[in-house]
Amino acid sequence: MLTDGFGRIHDYLRISLTDRCNFRCLYCLPADEESHLTSSSKERMTAEEIDRIAGIFVEHGVKKIRLTGGEPLIRKDAAEIIERIAKYPVKLAITTNGMYVDQFISVFKKAGLKSVNVSLDSLQENKFKLLTHRNEFAKVKSNIDLLLQSGFHVKVNMVVMKDYNHHEIGDFVEWTKNENLHVRFIEFMPFPQNKWQPEKLITHKEILDTITDRFHLVEKLHDDKHDTTKSYRIKNYAGTFAVISTMSEPFCSGCNRLRLTSDGKMRNCLFAKTETDLLTPLRNGENIEPLIRDNLLRKHYMLGGNNEEQWAKHQTESHERTMMGIGG
Ligand code: SAM
Ligand code: SF4
Repeated sequence: MLTDGFGRIHDYLRISLTDRCNFRCLYCLPADEESHLTSSSKERMTAEEIDRIAGIFVEHGVKKIRLTGGEPLIRKDAAEIIERIAKYPVKLAITTNGMYVDQFISVFKKAGLKSVNVSLDSLQENKFKLLTHRNEFAKVKSNIDLLLQSGFHVKVNMVVMKDYNHHEIGDFVEWTKNENLHVRFIEFMPFPQNKWQPEKLITHKEILDTITDRFHLVEKLHDDKHDTTKSYRIKNYAGTFAVISTMSEPFCSGCNRLRLTSDGKMRNCLFAKTETDLLTPLRNGENIEPLIRDNLLRKHYMLGGNNEEQWAKHQTESHERTMMGIGG
């Protein structure tokens, strides 16, 4: 079992397959497009190395693995990685921008991967283009429909930003009327050069107020201890929605998450200020288990040790990695 200094069992590993992406989401990518790239192909974990490191985490109690990035499905060996991870007794999930999902339906099915998170920040074609710098709304939307028709558990991630897409909150909720999908409204988080400003943040409370203004029968659903979301449903709707309130109401007390970057660095929090290289020791034939345990024991109780007062004012100490560099 992997336990931190506060007795929290950590059994959920998020593995970033790449820090590269085919989209250019304005809240994710820094203005200087190349500055976020942290790994050359030599520094990046190979499929075999991902498999070995994942195996060590599983041996020590990890029960859920999520593949993410950058965009995980742009890796040429993405299918091989999914197949390799699928042999472990874990709940396997993926977070993707949805662009190449149609090419992976049979890979997901064969791997027993049932849960797919797709990012979609607007239901309007022109807005989608403005936010992602790609004209691919129709493709992503049709791939979400394909996942639903194919019986996957689909969560749609929408980063809410004032003036960009906050007017669409109600339309996303309306989408859950007839579709059994789970929409997650994510509070906009600050990362290096990602154009974050306090005025752009729409909080959990504001999101909920917007929804209750338009829909009257909002039901609160049960949240599990490890959930990062606060879940709701409109009465009699097929799907559900939730808010990820990292900024206004952090949810660290039940944290069970570990992260592995695409260049093989372990991070114990999205907001951690330090990381541990696992890949170089693995390549040198060393035992990486003590490194994993040591990294976890250094985990802060909340928000990677960012000062709570600063956080309340939505000012974090700067990260050296972007969201894409860490793995979202
Ligand atoms: N490319 C994949 C995708 O877009 O789903 C996986 C990686 S992406 C970094 C993972 C998630 O992080 C996405 O849902 C994205 O919307 C979210 N994200 C990225 N930057 C964010 C930010 N500044 N604040 C909140 N969420 C963010
Ligand atoms: Fe790429 Fe995902 Fe970041 Fe958008 S949110 S730029 S799709 S990694």
